[in-house]
Amino acid sequence: MDYLPNKIIEIKKSASLMSEEIIATRRHFHRNPEMSWRETETSLYIARRLEEWGLTDVRRGFGGTESGVVADLAGDAPGPCVALRADIDALPVFEKNDADWRSQNLGVMHACGHDAHMSALLAAAKILAAMKPDIRGRIRFIFQPAEEIGAPSGARAMIGEGVLDGVDAIGGMHVWSFVRAGLVQWKSGPVMASSDRFDIKFTGMGGHGAMPHDAIDPFVPTAAFVHAVQTIASREINPLEAVVVSIGKIAGGAVHNIIPDEVEIYGSIRAFNPEIRRTMEDRLRRVADGIASAHRCQCEVKVEYLVPSVTNDAPLTEVFRRAAVLAVGEGNVGESPHLMVSEDFSFFQEKIPGTFFFLGVGNPAIGADYPHHSPLFTIDESVLATGAALYAAFGLSALESLKSGLLKAHEPLKQP
Ligand SMILES: [Zn+2]
Ligand SMILES: [Zn+2]
Repeated sequence: MDYLPNKIIEIKKSASLMSEEIIATRRHFHRNPEMSWRETETSLYIARRLEEWGLTDVRRGFGGTESGVVADLAGDAPGPCVALRADIDALPVFEKNDADWRSQNLGVMHACGHDAHMSALLAAAKILAAMKPDIRGRIRFIFQPAEEIGAPSGARAMIGEGVLDGVDAIGGMHVWSFVRAGLVQWKSGPVMASSDRFDIKFTGMGGHGAMPHDAIDPFVPTAAFVHAVQTIASREINPLEAVVVSIGKIAGGAVHNIIPDEVEIYGSIRAFNPEIRRTMEDRLRRVADGIASAHRCQCEVKVEYLVPSVTNDAPLTEVFRRAAVLAVGEGNVGESPHLMVSEDFSFFQEKIPGTFFFLGVGNPAIGADYPHHSPLFTIDESVLATGAALYAAFGLSALESLKSGLLKAHEPLKQP
Protein backbone atom coordinates (compact mmCIF):
# COMPACT_ATOMS: atom_id res chain seq x y z
CA MET A 1 0.00 0.00 0.00
CA ASP A 2 2.76 2.41 0.98
CA TYR A 3 4.95 1.19 -1.84
CA LEU A 4 5.19 4.48 -3.76
CA PRO A 5 5.61 6.86 -0.78
CA ASN A 6 8.42 4.66 0.53
CA LYS A 7 10.14 4.57 -2.85
CA ILE A 8 9.87 8.35 -3.15
CA ILE A 9 11.47 8.77 0.29
CA GLU A 10 14.28 6.49 -0.91
CA ILE A 11 14.68 8.60 -4.06
CA LYS A 12 14.77 11.79 -2.02
CA LYS A 13 17.49 10.39 0.24
CA SER A 14 19.63 9.24 -2.69
CA ALA A 15 19.23 12.64 -4.38
CA SER A 16 20.27 14.61 -1.31
CA LEU A 17 23.31 12.35 -0.81
CA MET A 18 24.25 13.15 -4.42
CA SER A 19 23.81 16.91 -4.05
CA GLU A 20 27.54 17.76 -4.33
CA GLU A 21 27.93 15.52 -7.38
CA ILE A 22 24.92 17.12 -9.10
CA ILE A 23 26.31 20.60 -8.41
CA ALA A 24 29.69 19.57 -9.86
CA THR A 25 27.99 18.21 -13.00
CA ARG A 26 26.00 21.43 -13.38
CA ARG A 27 29.18 23.48 -13.09
CA HIS A 28 30.85 21.30 -15.73
CA PHE A 29 27.97 22.01 -18.13
CA HIS A 30 27.95 25.68 -17.15
CA ARG A 31 31.66 26.04 -17.96
CA ASN A 32 31.20 24.37 -21.33
CA PRO A 33 28.02 25.72 -22.92
CA GLU A 34 27.15 24.91 -26.53
CA MET A 35 24.65 26.60 -28.85
CA SER A 36 21.55 24.98 -30.31
CA TRP A 37 22.34 22.06 -32.63
CA ARG A 38 26.03 22.25 -31.67
CA GLU A 39 25.78 20.37 -28.35
CA THR A 40 28.37 17.79 -29.42
CA GLU A 41 30.59 17.64 -26.31
CA THR A 42 27.58 18.00 -24.02
CA SER A 43 25.89 15.04 -25.70
CA LEU A 44 29.06 12.93 -25.60
CA TYR A 45 29.41 13.59 -21.86
CA ILE A 46 25.78 12.61 -21.21
CA ALA A 47 25.94 9.46 -23.35
CA ARG A 48 29.10 8.27 -21.58
CA ARG A 49 27.54 8.68 -18.13
CA LEU A 50 24.37 6.86 -19.17
CA GLU A 51 26.37 3.97 -20.63
CA GLU A 52 28.47 3.80 -17.46
CA TRP A 53 25.35 3.42 -15.35
CA GLY A 54 24.00 0.57 -17.47
CA LEU A 55 21.32 2.30 -19.49
CA THR A 56 20.58 0.66 -22.81
CA ASP A 57 19.71 1.70 -26.37
CA VAL A 58 21.82 4.84 -26.01
CA ARG A 59 21.34 6.91 -29.19
CA ARG A 60 23.34 10.06 -29.79
CA GLY A 61 22.94 12.59 -32.61
CA PHE A 62 19.67 13.87 -34.06
CA GLY A 63 18.62 16.17 -36.90
CA GLY A 64 21.76 15.25 -38.86
CA THR A 65 23.99 16.58 -36.03
CA GLU A 66 25.88 15.06 -33.10
CA SER A 67 23.47 16.68 -30.65
CA GLY A 68 20.91 15.01 -28.42
CA VAL A 69 20.89 11.75 -26.47
CA VAL A 70 18.19 9.17 -25.73
CA ALA A 71 18.60 6.12 -23.51
CA ASP A 72 16.38 3.57 -21.83
CA LEU A 73 16.31 2.09 -18.38
CA ALA A 74 14.42 -1.19 -18.39
CA GLY A 75 13.09 -2.28 -15.03
CA ASP A 76 13.22 -5.88 -13.85
CA ALA A 77 9.52 -6.33 -14.66
CA PRO A 78 7.85 -5.42 -17.96
CA GLY A 79 5.31 -2.61 -18.16
CA PRO A 80 4.54 0.78 -19.67
CA CYS A 81 7.12 3.37 -20.75
CA VAL A 82 7.48 6.88 -19.33
CA ALA A 83 9.87 9.47 -20.80
CA LEU A 84 11.68 12.22 -18.88
CA ARG A 85 13.04 15.17 -20.85
CA ALA A 86 15.71 17.82 -20.27
CA ASP A 87 16.83 20.40 -22.83
CA ILE A 88 20.58 20.91 -23.26
CA ASP A 89 21.33 24.03 -25.33
CA ALA A 90 22.85 27.37 -24.30
CA LEU A 91 22.37 30.91 -25.60
CA PRO A 92 24.42 33.53 -27.48
CA VAL A 93 24.95 35.56 -24.27
CA PHE A 94 28.28 36.91 -22.96
CA GLU A 95 28.36 35.85 -19.31
CA LYS A 96 28.96 38.61 -16.75
CA ASN A 97 29.12 36.39 -13.63
CA ASP A 98 32.57 35.90 -12.17
CA ALA A 99 32.15 32.52 -10.46
CA ASP A 100 34.86 29.85 -10.99
CA TRP A 101 32.47 27.92 -13.16
CA ARG A 102 31.62 30.82 -15.51
CA SER A 103 31.44 30.05 -19.22
CA GLN A 104 34.75 29.20 -20.90
CA ASN A 105 33.12 29.40 -24.31
CA LEU A 106 33.07 33.17 -24.71
CA GLY A 107 29.83 34.60 -26.03
CA VAL A 108 27.89 31.44 -25.19
CA MET A 109 26.17 30.92 -21.85
CA HIS A 110 23.75 28.63 -20.05
CA ALA A 111 21.59 31.64 -19.24
CA CYS A 112 18.29 29.76 -19.16
CA GLY A 113 19.17 26.99 -16.69
CA HIS A 114 19.36 24.07 -19.14
CA ASP A 115 22.61 23.09 -17.37
CA ALA A 116 20.45 22.56 -14.25
CA HIS A 117 17.93 20.44 -16.21
CA MET A 118 20.66 18.17 -17.61
CA SER A 119 22.44 17.65 -14.31
CA ALA A 120 19.17 16.90 -12.50
CA LEU A 121 18.00 14.44 -15.16
CA LEU A 122 21.40 12.71 -15.24
CA ALA A 123 21.22 12.29 -11.47
CA ALA A 124 17.68 10.90 -11.79
CA ALA A 125 19.01 8.33 -14.27
CA LYS A 126 21.72 7.30 -11.83
CA ILE A 127 19.25 7.04 -8.93
CA LEU A 128 16.74 5.00 -10.93
CA ALA A 129 19.47 2.77 -12.42
CA ALA A 130 20.15 1.63 -8.85
CA MET A 131 16.44 0.85 -8.36
CA LYS A 132 15.86 -1.52 -11.29
CA PRO A 133 14.00 -4.11 -9.18
CA ASP A 134 11.49 -1.37 -8.29
CA ILE A 135 10.86 -0.30 -11.87
CA ARG A 136 7.91 -2.07 -13.42
CA GLY A 137 8.29 -0.92 -16.98
CA ARG A 138 10.75 1.29 -18.81
CA ILE A 139 11.97 4.83 -18.34
CA ARG A 140 13.31 6.73 -21.33
CA PHE A 141 15.69 9.64 -20.79
CA ILE A 142 15.52 12.33 -23.47
CA PHE A 143 18.29 14.97 -23.57
CA GLN A 144 16.96 17.33 -26.20
CA PRO A 145 19.05 19.78 -28.23
CA ALA A 146 17.92 23.10 -29.71
CA GLU A 147 15.05 24.23 -27.53
CA GLU A 148 15.97 27.92 -27.61
CA ILE A 149 15.85 28.61 -31.33
CA GLY A 150 12.19 27.71 -31.89
CA ALA A 151 12.84 26.46 -35.42
CA PRO A 152 14.23 24.00 -36.33
CA SER A 153 13.02 22.63 -33.01
CA GLY A 154 15.02 19.90 -31.31
CA ALA A 155 11.85 18.31 -29.94
CA ARG A 156 10.34 18.09 -33.39
CA ALA A 157 13.47 16.53 -34.88
CA MET A 158 13.70 13.93 -32.12
CA ILE A 159 10.02 12.99 -32.46
CA GLY A 160 10.58 12.60 -36.20
CA GLU A 161 13.39 10.17 -35.41
CA GLY A 162 11.20 8.03 -33.20
CA VAL A 163 12.10 8.97 -29.63
CA LEU A 164 8.44 8.72 -28.57
CA ASP A 165 7.88 5.29 -30.14
CA GLY A 166 6.38 3.08 -27.46
CA VAL A 167 6.24 5.90 -24.87
CA ASP A 168 2.97 6.28 -22.91
CA ALA A 169 3.56 9.58 -21.09
CA ILE A 170 6.26 12.24 -20.72
CA GLY A 171 7.40 14.73 -18.08
CA GLY A 172 9.67 17.77 -18.40
CA MET A 173 11.01 20.42 -16.06
CA HIS A 174 12.12 24.06 -16.20
CA VAL A 175 13.87 25.95 -13.41
CA TRP A 176 12.67 29.52 -12.70
CA SER A 177 14.78 32.27 -11.14
CA PHE A 178 11.66 34.36 -10.40
CA VAL A 179 10.29 31.62 -8.12
CA ARG A 180 11.84 31.06 -4.68
CA ALA A 181 14.36 28.23 -4.49
CA GLY A 182 12.72 24.92 -3.68
CA LEU A 183 9.13 25.81 -4.60
CA VAL A 184 7.71 23.26 -7.07
CA GLN A 185 4.93 24.36 -9.44
CA TRP A 186 2.44 22.37 -11.50
CA LYS A 187 -0.54 23.34 -13.66
CA SER A 188 -3.21 21.38 -15.53
CA GLY A 189 -4.18 22.44 -19.06
CA PRO A 190 -2.46 25.28 -20.94
CA VAL A 191 0.45 26.72 -18.94
CA MET A 192 2.81 28.28 -21.51
CA ALA A 193 1.75 30.17 -24.66
CA SER A 194 2.17 29.22 -28.28
CA SER A 195 4.72 31.30 -30.19
CA ASP A 196 4.45 32.17 -33.88
CA ARG A 197 5.87 34.98 -35.95
CA PHE A 198 4.87 37.15 -38.89
CA ASP A 199 6.53 39.25 -41.60
CA ILE A 200 4.42 41.92 -43.30
CA LYS A 201 5.59 43.99 -46.24
CA PHE A 202 3.80 47.17 -47.35
CA THR A 203 4.80 48.16 -50.88
CA GLY A 204 4.06 51.60 -52.31
CA MET A 205 6.04 53.66 -54.80
CA GLY A 206 9.21 55.49 -53.84
CA GLY A 207 9.70 59.20 -54.50
CA HIS A 208 10.92 62.57 -53.24
CA GLY A 209 10.07 63.44 -49.65
CA ALA A 210 9.12 66.93 -50.81
CA MET A 211 6.54 65.61 -53.28
CA PRO A 212 4.58 62.84 -51.54
CA HIS A 213 1.68 63.18 -54.00
CA ASP A 214 3.93 61.76 -56.73
CA ALA A 215 4.79 58.76 -54.56
CA ILE A 216 2.87 56.15 -52.55
CA ASP A 217 4.26 56.21 -49.03
CA PRO A 218 4.50 52.74 -47.39
CA PHE A 219 5.24 54.31 -43.97
CA VAL A 220 1.64 55.51 -43.69
CA PRO A 221 0.05 52.02 -43.66
CA THR A 222 2.97 50.83 -41.47
CA ALA A 223 2.15 53.43 -38.83
CA ALA A 224 -1.58 52.66 -39.07
CA PHE A 225 -0.90 48.94 -38.76
CA VAL A 226 1.15 49.32 -35.57
CA HIS A 227 -1.92 50.84 -33.90
CA ALA A 228 -4.63 48.78 -35.58
CA VAL A 229 -3.04 45.40 -34.90
CA GLN A 230 -3.54 45.93 -31.15
CA THR A 231 -7.30 46.02 -31.68
CA ILE A 232 -7.18 42.28 -32.46
CA ALA A 233 -6.39 41.55 -28.83
CA SER A 234 -8.37 44.45 -27.34
CA ARG A 235 -11.56 44.38 -29.52
CA GLU A 236 -11.81 41.00 -31.27
CA ILE A 237 -10.74 38.44 -28.66
CA ASN A 238 -12.61 37.64 -25.46
CA PRO A 239 -10.75 39.59 -22.75
CA LEU A 240 -10.61 36.42 -20.65
CA GLU A 241 -8.41 34.78 -23.31
CA ALA A 242 -4.76 35.82 -23.42
CA VAL A 243 -3.31 36.91 -26.76
CA VAL A 244 -0.28 39.10 -27.41
CA VAL A 245 0.82 40.61 -30.72
CA SER A 246 4.13 42.45 -30.47
CA ILE A 247 6.13 44.14 -33.20
CA GLY A 248 9.86 43.62 -32.76
CA LYS A 249 11.30 45.24 -35.85
CA ILE A 250 10.38 47.72 -38.59
CA ALA A 251 12.73 48.02 -41.54
CA GLY A 252 12.55 50.46 -44.43
CA GLY A 253 13.92 53.64 -45.91
CA ALA A 254 17.42 55.07 -46.18
CA VAL A 255 17.64 58.83 -45.62
CA HIS A 256 15.59 61.83 -44.47
CA ASN A 257 14.13 62.97 -47.77
CA ILE A 258 13.36 59.84 -49.77
CA ILE A 259 10.07 57.97 -49.58
CA PRO A 260 11.03 54.26 -49.96
CA ASP A 261 9.26 51.66 -52.07
CA GLU A 262 8.59 49.32 -49.18
CA VAL A 263 8.63 48.85 -45.42
CA GLU A 264 8.73 45.54 -43.54
CA ILE A 265 7.29 44.72 -40.14
CA TYR A 266 8.36 41.70 -38.07
CA GLY A 267 6.36 40.54 -35.08
CA SER A 268 5.48 37.81 -32.63
CA ILE A 269 2.11 36.26 -31.74
CA ARG A 270 1.48 34.51 -28.41
CA ALA A 271 -1.72 32.69 -27.43
CA PHE A 272 -2.92 29.95 -25.09
CA ASN A 273 -6.03 28.67 -26.76
CA PRO A 274 -5.22 26.66 -29.92
CA GLU A 275 -8.62 27.64 -31.40
CA ILE A 276 -7.69 31.32 -31.12
CA ARG A 277 -4.16 30.65 -32.34
CA ARG A 278 -5.69 29.19 -35.51
CA THR A 279 -7.64 32.43 -36.20
CA MET A 280 -4.74 34.87 -35.76
CA GLU A 281 -3.31 34.56 -39.29
CA ASP A 282 -6.65 35.54 -40.92
CA ARG A 283 -7.10 38.43 -38.51
CA LEU A 284 -3.61 39.81 -39.27
CA ARG A 285 -4.20 39.48 -43.01
CA ARG A 286 -7.55 41.25 -42.83
CA VAL A 287 -6.14 44.19 -40.86
CA ALA A 288 -3.01 44.47 -43.04
CA ASP A 289 -4.93 44.12 -46.34
CA GLY A 290 -7.55 46.67 -45.29
CA ILE A 291 -4.94 49.20 -44.26
CA ALA A 292 -2.86 48.61 -47.39
CA SER A 293 -5.82 49.26 -49.68
CA ALA A 294 -6.89 52.34 -47.72
CA HIS A 295 -3.44 53.78 -48.41
CA ARG A 296 -3.02 52.58 -52.05
CA CYS A 297 -0.31 50.05 -51.11
CA GLN A 298 0.16 46.36 -51.70
CA CYS A 299 0.83 44.05 -48.81
CA GLU A 300 2.28 40.61 -48.29
CA VAL A 301 1.72 38.70 -45.05
CA LYS A 302 3.70 35.64 -44.02
CA VAL A 303 2.97 33.75 -40.81
CA GLU A 304 5.38 31.11 -39.55
CA TYR A 305 4.05 28.65 -36.99
CA LEU A 306 6.76 27.89 -34.45
CA VAL A 307 5.72 26.30 -31.17
CA PRO A 308 2.29 25.23 -29.83
CA SER A 309 1.21 26.03 -26.27
CA VAL A 310 2.46 23.78 -23.48
CA THR A 311 -0.75 22.04 -22.44
CA ASN A 312 -0.52 19.71 -19.48
CA ASP A 313 -2.57 16.53 -19.29
CA ALA A 314 -4.77 16.81 -16.18
CA PRO A 315 -4.56 13.22 -14.78
CA LEU A 316 -0.80 13.06 -15.42
CA THR A 317 -0.32 16.45 -13.75
CA GLU A 318 -2.17 15.14 -10.70
CA VAL A 319 0.24 12.17 -10.63
CA PHE A 320 3.12 14.66 -10.70
CA ARG A 321 1.58 16.86 -8.00
CA ARG A 322 1.17 13.91 -5.62
CA ALA A 323 4.72 12.73 -6.27
CA ALA A 324 6.01 16.28 -5.64
CA VAL A 325 4.11 16.54 -2.35
CA LEU A 326 5.69 13.26 -1.23
CA ALA A 327 9.14 14.44 -2.32
CA VAL A 328 9.20 18.00 -0.96
CA GLY A 329 6.15 18.41 1.31
CA GLU A 330 2.81 20.14 0.72
CA GLY A 331 4.17 23.59 1.73
CA ASN A 332 6.70 23.51 -1.12
CA VAL A 333 4.24 22.65 -3.88
CA GLY A 334 1.93 25.18 -5.54
CA GLU A 335 0.04 25.93 -8.73
CA SER A 336 1.91 27.79 -11.47
CA PRO A 337 0.45 30.94 -13.03
CA HIS A 338 0.02 31.08 -16.83
CA LEU A 339 3.24 32.11 -18.60
CA MET A 340 3.31 33.98 -21.92
CA VAL A 341 6.72 32.49 -22.80
CA SER A 342 6.88 29.27 -24.81
CA GLU A 343 8.67 25.90 -24.83
CA ASP A 344 8.96 23.27 -27.55
CA PHE A 345 8.11 20.55 -24.99
CA SER A 346 4.63 21.15 -26.46
CA PHE A 347 5.58 19.09 -29.54
CA PHE A 348 5.90 16.01 -27.32
CA GLN A 349 2.48 16.80 -25.85
CA GLU A 350 0.92 16.85 -29.32
CA LYS A 351 1.81 13.15 -29.55
CA ILE A 352 1.34 11.77 -26.04
CA PRO A 353 0.04 13.01 -22.67
CA GLY A 354 2.68 15.09 -20.94
CA THR A 355 3.22 17.39 -18.00
CA PHE A 356 5.72 20.23 -17.75
CA PHE A 357 6.57 21.32 -14.22
CA PHE A 358 8.66 24.06 -12.65
CA LEU A 359 11.26 24.31 -9.91
CA GLY A 360 12.08 27.64 -8.26
CA VAL A 361 15.84 28.40 -8.17
CA GLY A 362 15.56 32.06 -7.16
CA ASN A 363 17.44 33.38 -4.16
CA PRO A 364 18.12 37.15 -3.99
CA ALA A 365 20.57 36.63 -1.08
CA ILE A 366 23.04 34.99 -3.52
CA GLY A 367 22.16 37.10 -6.58
CA ALA A 368 20.03 34.34 -8.10
CA ASP A 369 17.16 36.59 -9.11
CA TYR A 370 18.22 37.85 -12.53
CA PRO A 371 15.83 37.02 -15.36
CA HIS A 372 16.41 34.05 -17.63
CA HIS A 373 18.62 34.94 -20.66
CA SER A 374 20.33 37.72 -18.65
CA PRO A 375 24.19 37.75 -18.68
CA LEU A 376 23.94 37.73 -14.86
CA PHE A 377 21.49 34.82 -14.68
CA THR A 378 22.35 32.28 -12.01
CA ILE A 379 20.60 29.73 -9.80
CA ASP A 380 20.52 28.50 -6.24
CA GLU A 381 22.30 25.18 -6.78
CA SER A 382 21.18 23.76 -3.44
CA VAL A 383 17.87 22.76 -5.04
CA LEU A 384 19.37 20.71 -7.87
CA ALA A 385 18.93 17.56 -5.78
CA THR A 386 15.22 18.40 -5.55
CA GLY A 387 15.13 18.60 -9.35
CA ALA A 388 16.66 15.12 -9.59
CA ALA A 389 14.20 13.74 -7.02
CA LEU A 390 11.24 15.28 -8.90
CA TYR A 391 12.23 13.70 -12.20
CA ALA A 392 12.80 10.29 -10.61
CA ALA A 393 9.71 10.39 -8.37
CA PHE A 394 7.51 11.44 -11.28
CA GLY A 395 8.95 8.69 -13.52
CA LEU A 396 8.24 5.98 -10.98
CA SER A 397 4.79 7.38 -10.06
CA ALA A 398 3.68 7.69 -13.68
CA LEU A 399 4.73 4.08 -14.37
CA GLU A 400 2.76 2.85 -11.37
CA SER A 401 -0.32 4.89 -12.34
CA LEU A 402 -0.23 3.63 -15.92
CA LYS A 403 0.23 0.09 -14.71
CA SER A 404 -2.68 0.25 -12.26
CA GLY A 405 -4.96 1.75 -14.92
CA LEU A 406 -5.37 4.99 -12.92
CA LEU A 407 -3.85 6.76 -15.88
CA LYS A 408 -4.99 5.95 -19.39
CA ALA A 409 -3.15 7.09 -22.45
CA HIS A 410 -5.55 9.28 -24.44
CA GLU A 411 -5.54 11.77 -27.28
CA PRO A 412 -3.60 14.94 -26.51
CA LEU A 413 -4.91 18.36 -27.60
CA LYS A 414 -4.61 19.07 -31.35
CA GLN A 415 -3.01 22.32 -32.51
CA PRO A 416 -2.73 23.86 -36.00
ZN1 LIG B 1 15.40 30.12 -22.60
ZN1 LIG C 1 14.77 27.37 -21.15
